[in-house]
Amino acid sequence: MAKLKILEFPDPRLRIKARLVETVDDALRQLIDDMFETMYDAPGIGLAATQVDVHRRLLVADVSSEKDDPWALINPKIIEKDGVGVTAEGCLSVPGYYEEVERAEHVKVRFLDRDGSQQEADFDGLLAVCVQHEMDHLDGKLFVDYLSEAKRQRIRKRLEKDRRYKQQETAAVL
Ligand code: ZN
Repeated sequence: MAKLKILEFPDPRLRIKARLVETVDDALRQLIDDMFETMYDAPGIGLAATQVDVHRRLLVADVSSEKDDPWALINPKIIEKDGVGVTAEGCLSVPGYYEEVERAEHVKVRFLDRDGSQQEADFDGLLAVCVQHEMDHLDGKLFVDYLSEAKRQRIRKRLEKDRRYKQQETAAVL
């Protein structure tokens, strides 16, 4: 197992549209395990492969408080959705920001599991929000894209400034 580096907004690699996974093999299962480790460590409740600079259609999620409900969705596709809800969302690629986003309350998703078998599952509540958020990542979309341009630019400037400070701190201790 290995922790992976998470890309942060406005890294242009977050805008790459992920390609379908063609083979579910041991290398992919290793990536899934590494993504879970990275997500739990962050800590976060969802992580898309795009965020760790792997541009394949794969996401992991676990919204349980006991961290005992892990989902790995390969080539996920929403086949039904209904209801509308608003949730304050954050993102490991946009650290420190939470903004309200409107999404479907319920989604039915078709996907391959870690053995390569096709499955369908119904997601509600926070897990439905999480799956939709992570699926956006696979299309190169971030939750800040739902905000106004002015708000997105403010977040971008603030994050760039935070990163410059971080770099300075690192430089000072070398
Ligand atoms: Zn995210």
